[in-house]
Amino acid sequence: MKILNECRCSFPAVSANEALARAALSAFLIPADPTAQELADLRTVISEAVTNAIVHGYRHKEGMVSICLRLLPERVIYIRVSDKGCGIGDVERAMVPLYTSAPEEDRAGLGFAIMQTFTDSLHVRSTPDHGTTLTMRRRLGCSEEQDEA
Ligand code: ATP
Ligand code: MG
Repeated sequence: MKILNECRCSFPAVSANEALARAALSAFLIPADPTAQELADLRTVISEAVTNAIVHGYRHKEGMVSICLRLLPERVIYIRVSDKGCGIGDVERAMVPLYTSAPEEDRAGLGFAIMQTFTDSLHVRSTPDHGTTLTMRRRLGCSEEQDEA
């Protein structure tokens, strides 16, 4: 599929960089004229994905998180977040709402559920000891509808 715009960046897996990922996404999305709700949804999505890479993927070690943002035809936003951390042994179980491997840290186990709710598609590719890649797509509402609103 033709890529109309693209932004790639990598940053160390530290919590301060969750805000960096949100800011990068916002700056990338603004020219596509998202609604406030779309912007808020996708900022939440990238936050959840990057937080997971930091707190779960790189639980006891340092590493880099990579993001790739794309604007595709028909206002489809593509978001990829990857880490080279511990990976997920059982992806199906990890995606069950309320499942968390870190209940003692007051995690709710809702990150994947939130990402699924706010995107049209979510794919998880993960290999234990090698890392995890999330690929998500969300189509922004068409501008005519926004004009009428
Ligand atoms: P919350 O997101 O509500 O704070 P959570 O992070 O535990 O809690 P999810 O985001 O739904 O919940 O993730 C579910 C589980 O999947 C995690 O507890 C973790 O075990 C695993 N997981 C998610 N992302 C990764 C990742 N990038 N690397 C390794 N494990 C992951
Ligand atoms: Mg999470």
